[in-house]
Amino acid sequence: MKDKIWLSSPHMGTEELKNVQEAFATNWVAPVGPFINQFERDLSDYTQVKHTAVVQSGTAAIHLALRLLDVAKDDIVLCQSFTFIGSSNPITYQQAQPVFIDSEPETWNMCPEALETAIKHFIKRGKKPKAILVVHLYGMPAKMKEIGVISERYEIPIIEDAAEALGSSIEGQACGSFGAFGILSFNGNKIITTSGGGALQSNDESAIAKARFLATQAKDNAPHYEHSTLGYNYRMSNIAAAIGVGQLQVLDDRVAARRANYKFYEDLFKNVDGVQFLEEPQGYISNRWLSCVLLEQSENKKLSPEDFRLHLEQDNIESRPLWKPMHMQPLYKGAAYFGGTIAEQLFQKGICLPSGSNLTSQDKERIQKSIQSFLNS
Ligand SMILES: *Cc1c(COP(=O)(O)O)cnc(C)c1O
Repeated sequence: MKDKIWLSSPHMGTEELKNVQEAFATNWVAPVGPFINQFERDLSDYTQVKHTAVVQSGTAAIHLALRLLDVAKDDIVLCQSFTFIGSSNPITYQQAQPVFIDSEPETWNMCPEALETAIKHFIKRGKKPKAILVVHLYGMPAKMKEIGVISERYEIPIIEDAAEALGSSIEGQACGSFGAFGILSFNGNKIITTSGGGALQSNDESAIAKARFLATQAKDNAPHYEHSTLGYNYRMSNIAAAIGVGQLQVLDDRVAARRANYKFYEDLFKNVDGVQFLEEPQGYISNRWLSCVLLEQSENKKLSPEDFRLHLEQDNIESRPLWKPMHMQPLYKGAAYFGGTIAEQLFQKGICLPSGSNLTSQDKERIQKSIQSFLNS
């Protein structure tokens, strides 16, 4: 059996191991140290968001953002339904109420109209939502201009889940820099990785200072251990940050490689009926974290996403359905939902194809052969 071709696997550059060795040599094997400080500065430089706190995961970063916005029990948070559960779980950690919002077909992200309908619905009932949690799924930026207007109109802050979108932008402005808070993830499957990790970004210096305080068990200023508020142990290790500093140096190459993967699939499926891509709207740059296609089952029975996935699996090639929307998850049974069936249709028709920046030309040949044999079967 040939080696497995993964959906998205870690891709180290040349500096990461050197940095880790340096961290060992200087004994900064701790959740403090020079690489943490450098990684935070480098991330701020990259996204042009003034302040960054690196943490143990993207999920932890979202949790901190919710705490900083005082989201508490029974508060409403408006959350994109079409996402990974890491977006919405922190809402539940706070015992707040997630209200899920459908996607629009152009970017597959939060639908501004459904968002506004939900806001009006809850304001009318005297329950103004506390935050808008928008996601740039698969690296495609959401409609931040439209969502930003709504956020300002109703004075509801935005948390931008840019876990999948480091390197993506709208008219040159980085994803994660539009809202009150931006969050990033460096999990093993993301465009760059620290094995596990995340970041919280904001232009509000005191908010990020408070995030650091909450992420280090909320220790009050005293010689002994004094605690007056609930905190977490969320700080990133200097070892992870050492990897992150090296990874950030090759991010632009990783984006270029993933965009080339997308182009590869686009060419491969050219002239195949019933295959749809996610095109970039004018001014939008997607890092193409994952290349996804939609297959129209009705037009051509052969093109069932599940048959396609199984076919690739037989050739030891990993693929996945698109994220299952949160409003369809058993965990969120009974949660309020606003919108139509866009997210649901995306889940039913879509498939993510191998998208790693480390795919070799041999890998691509294998993928091409497998896809062609599926299309001809
Ligand atoms: C990966 C991911 C997260 C969570 O990040 P972790 O670092 O894995 O906790 C959140 N939202 C989205 C959209 C993600 O893809």
